[in-house]
Amino acid sequence: MFPFLKPTLIYEGDVTRVRLQDLKNLNVEGLIIDLDNTIMAPKSARLDAPVQLWLDVMKKHFKIVILTNNNKAFYLETVRQVIDLPVIGFAKKPWAFGVHEALRILDMSNDKIAVIGDRPLTDTWLGQRFGFKTILVRALTAHIEPKWKFFLRKLEWSFVKKM
Ligand SMILES: [Mg+2]
Repeated sequence: MFPFLKPTLIYEGDVTRVRLQDLKNLNVEGLIIDLDNTIMAPKSARLDAPVQLWLDVMKKHFKIVILTNNNKAFYLETVRQVIDLPVIGFAKKPWAFGVHEALRILDMSNDKIAVIGDRPLTDTWLGQRFGFKTILVRALTAHIEPKWKFFLRKLEWSFVKKM
């Protein structure tokens, strides 16, 4: 029903469940990774140890950029201090605003790129629009989010699951 929300791979766990071999099997060489809820709890500017370890492994095998709709310049600067990767904010996913910068940094064809994120309507849709592979993961659970956000998240996933 919503083919633009259909991810290439879907995980029932958070980003640390994404295995190196799964990405290698897709023949990707670059990753565009979402920030909030995918690798960091929102507003935390902190990488939990398992995510840090996962990123350290992935860094050895792929070019990586972080692409986020977060538009708080000061917060993004803080994140850059924590994470040793390019962080592009104000991305307005699923639209094109931040993607060109990501593509400039990755410098490879779109089919060599996988976008990893927790939101079908932003991360997966963006990936579909640009011909990237799309990896949908569950949000990090190490924090509490408002009820309405939790509801929207479940609703989005329900569309993906029905396909
Ligand atoms: Mg997110």
